[in-house]
Amino acid sequence: MKSIDLASCKGKKVLVRVDYNVPQNEKLEVTNKTRIIRTLDTINKIVQDGGITILMSHLGRPKGEANDHFSLKHIVSAVSEVLGKEIVFLGDVLSQDAEEKVAQLKPGEIGLLENLRFHKEEEKGDENFAKAIARLGDIYVNDAFGTAHREHASTATITKFFPGEAYAGYLLYSEVVSLRKMLDEKKSQFTAIIGGSKVSSKMNILFNLLNKVDNLIIAGGMSYTFLNAIGVNIGESLFEEEMIPVAKEIIKKAHLKGVDIYMPIDNICADRFAEDANIFVTTENHIPDGWVGMDIGPKTIQKFSHIINISSTILWNGPVGVFEFDQFGKGTQAISVAVSGSTLGGAFSLIGGGDTIAAVSKYGMSDFISYISTGGGAMLEYLEGISLPGIKALDEN
Ligand code: AMP
Repeated sequence: MKSIDLASCKGKKVLVRVDYNVPQNEKLEVTNKTRIIRTLDTINKIVQDGGITILMSHLGRPKGEANDHFSLKHIVSAVSEVLGKEIVFLGDVLSQDAEEKVAQLKPGEIGLLENLRFHKEEEKGDENFAKAIARLGDIYVNDAFGTAHREHASTATITKFFPGEAYAGYLLYSEVVSLRKMLDEKKSQFTAIIGGSKVSSKMNILFNLLNKVDNLIIAGGMSYTFLNAIGVNIGESLFEEEMIPVAKEIIKKAHLKGVDIYMPIDNICADRFAEDANIFVTTENHIPDGWVGMDIGPKTIQKFSHIINISSTILWNGPVGVFEFDQFGKGTQAISVAVSGSTLGGAFSLIGGGDTIAAVSKYGMSDFISYISTGGGAMLEYLEGISLPGIKALDEN
């Protein structure tokens, strides 16, 4: 794929697919502008080149019909505020009005189209709809990594109408380069830390990572299903019985591939799943009946930190304990510190997933991580080894 750096936007109308699927309150005001802020570099480049920026996105799930609640007109002021200049709301992509408004935009000006998902053809990846969108621009830029796993008209199909003129925006480019650097460049001591609540939701990632990593740290709620599978008593900890065969298969495959698996060797337990529960620290890997494993214990912290320290590449997805409750956040805090420390020592670290990003930020370590992926579902599918249609379309352009 080509970065927007290679595009010359002077005097050109540049259609930019962004991911402005932002959170809103009941008054439909934007409550978190991160997704808008992260597209600033791309938009600034177009403006500085003297191009016309036409932004397009989806918002929520309007299910293929116009619906005022999901209108992007509600986010115009937030986008204007972040960009530091007024933007023009262009209305529906298929309308004559949008065409006329685009024609009136001058170099350096910015417009925003209405929610693309007001048309069912968007999510179907419809070719005629993609062609209709394409009529509004001379150059296409995809900066919506968060929707790169969708084969939609504006994220994938559209590139065929811009032969040689379809580019990756800076955000999408940096996401892909970072993920590729981590997964595809073979380095020694690649460690993945996979935590969170369920084995079932991370199963495919675990299988795919076994082809890539040297060390696999399994922690958080999902580690108890693995521990149960190898005969450890897990008390009342989170447990997915139907995942036992999968857990055994992962352990077996790791052994065959020479991947070292690390799991908790001691635990912070609670007498119930609550913030103010009584706690008990196991000295070994045995959780008594009536107790719930909520966080990794001190010996585990030491062990995991050592592995992280000697790693040159680190991927982290999923907290290692119920960090939302302060007394069960020490493990996740310690892992945040270890990953940051290893990064300062020269390792490349990438973290992703809403909870992990929130945790690292809670412990003040965000600035010490090499790359924080905000891709959500797209990042998880990339880690599963699935080819993302939005990326493939740019690669093949
Ligand atoms: P996920 O969305 O699968 O990454 O899961 C994130 C959630 O896993 C967080 O809300 C954590 O509180 C939760 N979690 C981490 N460790 C545990 C645990 N030992 N028991 C239950 N939930 C956990």
